[in-house]
Amino acid sequence: MTSGKKLYALGETPPLGHVPEQMYASVIRSERYGQPRDAFQIEVVEVPKPGPKQVLVWVMAAGINYNNVWAALGTPVDVIAARRKASPAEPAFHIGGSDASGIVWAVGSQVSKVKVGDEVVLSCASWDENAPDIQAGADPITSTSARIWGYEENWGSFAQFTRVDEYQCHPKPPKLSWEAAAAYMLVGATAYRQLMGWAPNIVKEGDPVLIWGGSGGLGSMAIQIVKAKGGIPIAVVSSEGRMEHCYKLGAKGVINRTDPAFTHWGRLPDTSDAEGYAEWMKGANAFRKKWSEVLGSRQGPRIVLEHPGESTIPTSVLVCDNAGMIVICAGTTGYNADVDLRYLWMRQKRLQGSHFANAEQCGELNDMVIAGQVDPALSRTFAFDEVGTAHQLMHENTHPPGNMAIRVNALA
Ligand code: NAP
Repeated sequence: MTSGKKLYALGETPPLGHVPEQMYASVIRSERYGQPRDAFQIEVVEVPKPGPKQVLVWVMAAGINYNNVWAALGTPVDVIAARRKASPAEPAFHIGGSDASGIVWAVGSQVSKVKVGDEVVLSCASWDENAPDIQAGADPITSTSARIWGYEENWGSFAQFTRVDEYQCHPKPPKLSWEAAAAYMLVGATAYRQLMGWAPNIVKEGDPVLIWGGSGGLGSMAIQIVKAKGGIPIAVVSSEGRMEHCYKLGAKGVINRTDPAFTHWGRLPDTSDAEGYAEWMKGANAFRKKWSEVLGSRQGPRIVLEHPGESTIPTSVLVCDNAGMIVICAGTTGYNADVDLRYLWMRQKRLQGSHFANAEQCGELNDMVIAGQVDPALSRTFAFDEVGTAHQLMHENTHPPGNMAIRVNALA
């Protein structure tokens, strides 16, 4: 590895293995917290140095995810303050970006599985391999040391170089463009763990699966994973155009949640409020009826892939099949989700939290992409100075169906 003072313009490439001291990055600072379109700005910052088991990657393209909408807003977590509280030496800025494709540019002294020049995609979870819980056998993604790179951790992919742990590198699917390769890992591996990581509630041949936000990042991946595993994906969306997207990906049926018969979204009325509860049940039963029509059977979903949270959990718990699972990875619409416990215990349903994925699950999802079973569903590619615009669209739920990417060092 060599290094030097020259700052490389976007579109200009240093010799392989040459690491400049500075780089361009799309940066959030706490004084800009607020609407994503204004929170990100391109700045010149230092290039991070890889530790012994770390890798420096020349970023070709980066994926857009909801987590950096939260980072830009500065809520529910002020990621810069949280890091600086844990370690005052941390910089007073955040470089987001939890998905990337790129080229390994430098490796630490103990790295053995990748080498300079390898074309890779990056997964977003890192952890301390020596953490006591991991040493005691915990799944690393459940470790108290687990962090999301480009969100909880700094030096994400909205920059010319990014720094990751070695096990975050996976082979880039050879047939994909840099942009498509950058778009799928975070949502794909999250959906994969939700659907395949919680035995015995994993997708089996003929299992109907309810997928909220079917045209979103998670949903687009989930539809394809369920289909590839022999299940029956049924998606929920909020517009006709989004229905079309889900059918193209392989959904057996799609429900439009804006149907006026569904009057029940949001929190449950108190169970002592008989009238309010009956009214809620009317809307929920209309949804259940639509589900049965679309599936062609009265069986409930064996798995409900949840992420909206507050607005949908009461419905998810009601419609889920006996001994089925509601598996949730977010609370996009709110965190105070009501559960009518009667359905949970009497019908022996499982409400399971799930967060990203471990390295094996990332590898299994990546293999499905390499095999052509899962398409990244890349909808739109943005220029590097449009990081804020892409996140603003996502914040306003006006982004196109599927996954979005940013060109960093890749040329248009
Ligand atoms: P996305 O592409 O924006 O998709 C979210 C979808 O949710 C939208 O397409 C929208 O579809 C649907 N939605 C919005 N409001 C809704 C409501 N009131 N009721 C039902 N559906 C609603 O986002 P994503 O990338 O799929 O991520 C979704 C959430 O999961 C985010 O909060 C993200 O931070 C989280 N997430 C967590 C993890 C993790 O590891 N824990 C990983 C990935 C993502 P319609 O309007 O068409 O219904």
